[in-house]
Amino acid sequence: MTNIKQIEENLKREAKRLLESKEVSVVLAYARGYDEHHPLPYAARTAGEVGNLIFNEYCTYNLARYLTKYPPKTKIAIAVKAADSRAVVQLIQEEKVKKEDLVILGIPFIGMKDPKTGEEIDQKTTCHMANPVLYDILLGEEIRDAGAGSPYDVLAELEAMDQAARWSFWEKEFSKCIRCFACRKACPMCYCDPCFMDASRPRWADKSPTADGNLMYHLTRFYHLAGRCIDCGECSRACPMDIPLHLFHKKMAKECETMFGQAAGMKIDDKPVMVNYGNQDSDEMLK
Ligand code: SF4
Ligand code: SF4
Repeated sequence: MTNIKQIEENLKREAKRLLESKEVSVVLAYARGYDEHHPLPYAARTAGEVGNLIFNEYCTYNLARYLTKYPPKTKIAIAVKAADSRAVVQLIQEEKVKKEDLVILGIPFIGMKDPKTGEEIDQKTTCHMANPVLYDILLGEEIRDAGAGSPYDVLAELEAMDQAARWSFWEKEFSKCIRCFACRKACPMCYCDPCFMDASRPRWADKSPTADGNLMYHLTRFYHLAGRCIDCGECSRACPMDIPLHLFHKKMAKECETMFGQAAGMKIDDKPVMVNYGNQDSDEMLK
């Protein structure tokens, strides 16, 4: 695996070249925050700003989150790790961004760490892939052996519970929610504007953190992300109440993959699974 400092050097070199040649008008990457464990998403617009860019194992944020914030046709270079690249692919499939407007700077890496806990992020909280699924420039050597294990193994405990136990598990977890919407803000697939939660005419949902309101928010978000969540785990890491949202979304991702044979954001030519009807599709979801 390429040394993380070398990846940072490669990122800076490519960002400078792309901005100087005006191939792109912005490079989405990372800069230092208040310490090295807390980097920030950063948009470099000039070659002079490239010196601010960093890459270290705490750069977990999924920068695909910001792609939909730019006007159409903006030429953007974006640094992506494996799961982030799946978000870019999913956004291309959903026609929210166009591939021709992007230069994808792929980062092959295993060993990212949670800025809150310092623990390594693995298949328990993410898809744990090593190589981006789509890139124009790879900023390190492709990783041949990312390790064994399924990203869905972590669901075993929940799946072993009966329905009543699962319900009370999630009721308890969602009762902690203070409705700060950090999970929504962190998620690359939560781009609706306005979000149904913010609509006032009609007012679909109560914004205050009541038990029923919390369930309404999370269940609706859960369905909106069916077949679209790319398992980056950023929602869980963003949550100040440590609600294991990734488990919720992994379960839906697993069901979708089982029923329709397609994981989100893996291939640029796939259609989003929920808008791609096939006669052979499973009817399980209707039961
Ligand atoms: S980040 Fe956590 S506390 Fe905030 S709205 Fe999401 S689940 Fe609730
Ligand atoms: S729901 Fe969570 S894990 Fe899925 S794409 Fe959004 S932030 Fe990533």
